[in-house]
Amino acid sequence: MVEIDDSLIGKDVLEMAFERCIKCSTCKYSYKEFEKSCPSGEKFLFESYWASGRIRIIRGVLNGDLEWTEDLIDPIFACTTCGACMDACQAPHADYIVEMIEALRELAVKNIGPAEKQKFLVSRCEDSCNPYGDPNSDNSELKKEYNLPEKAEWVYFIGCTSNYRQKSLRDSTLRFLKKVGIDFTLIDEHCCTSPMIRTGQLSIIDDYMGYNLEQIKKAGATKVITSCAGCYKTLTKDFKRFGHDSDLEIYHSLELVKKLLDDKKIEFKSEFNKTVTYHDPCHLGRHMGVYELPREIYKQIPGLKLVEMKRNRNFAWCCGAGGGVKIGYPEWALEVSKERLEEAKETGATIITSTCPFCKTNLSDSATHYNFDFQVLDLMEILDQIDIEVKS
Ligand code: SF4
Ligand code: SF4
Repeated sequence: MVEIDDSLIGKDVLEMAFERCIKCSTCKYSYKEFEKSCPSGEKFLFESYWASGRIRIIRGVLNGDLEWTEDLIDPIFACTTCGACMDACQAPHADYIVEMIEALRELAVKNIGPAEKQKFLVSRCEDSCNPYGDPNSDNSELKKEYNLPEKAEWVYFIGCTSNYRQKSLRDSTLRFLKKVGIDFTLIDEHCCTSPMIRTGQLSIIDDYMGYNLEQIKKAGATKVITSCAGCYKTLTKDFKRFGHDSDLEIYHSLELVKKLLDDKKIEFKSEFNKTVTYHDPCHLGRHMGVYELPREIYKQIPGLKLVEMKRNRNFAWCCGAGGGVKIGYPEWALEVSKERLEEAKETGATIITSTCPFCKTNLSDSATHYNFDFQVLDLMEILDQIDIEVKS
């Protein structure tokens, strides 16, 4: 047994590479009808690009069989951290495979660096607090526009992708929260840190997590709502994992919508006569176990016909954007989405919908790039198009 240096990041999960993986390769395919499930392995068709191979890399670099060379960059960083391998693997470490890959990335960043373009995720944040490098929005204009208070029970944590790339999703969410009478406000956000954690670049995450929690506390909020699957997973799981636990209640926007429907506080009054298929975001589905809530909401929208893609729920094919792939391997990210759009097309739907701005961005980019006649809409954008009666 190799002794793992106590100072190594993610030591506990790295140890699993020695003790638990039995090299069976079950992680390469979903156990349902033996469908391909790993975008990385299917693209590069080499053992190191599947989860099983990445676990061998961990063993190799830790026991000294494998040298840290730049040849390892692509096998380590060309992975969307979609978690399909976690779902397929039947061994006891299954739930930790993505954490193992992220821990390997932390080590790689120290030894050989991340994939070239992924460095921008940190440098842009250092310049303007978001990974897109756009001038930082402190959200004061939005607060004025929506007449939001300084202090409130809820904070809507917009997230960088909605605030800088998917403003229609952000605005649909703002309008929904106003319409249903939620007492909420906005804070001057820093990135939630998800892109940095996924790519093993941890230098600023402590500061950012502390800063965001401090801003939420200043706003007097006890509840946080986000319309981003990535922010939701990070605020719920990663803040705690990296020592920033809090007693805040974290909601994805669809959880609030479902609660309001269940409590009979809202009712959908107009029809949305379209055929829609739902893409499960990896960060909401496999990483957080939320599969049925969005479907239950769609089924309550009059006129909306929900059809399923062949690979759905925990078997869903990734959109291709996560884990730093969108910035690190942009052409490949579009190819992964193309496969998802082709599958969506087979259902006869005219709209592919999701509950994550990052999925929306990559699916939309791919639809444009490959000339798909397909609308890509978030759940909140669909709700924005129908009449909602708010009950007192
Ligand atoms: S990660 Fe799981 S499924 Fe993959 S080779 Fe190891 S034990 Fe088998
Ligand atoms: S997280 Fe997704 S892309 Fe990465 S190894 Fe697992 S299945 Fe493949």
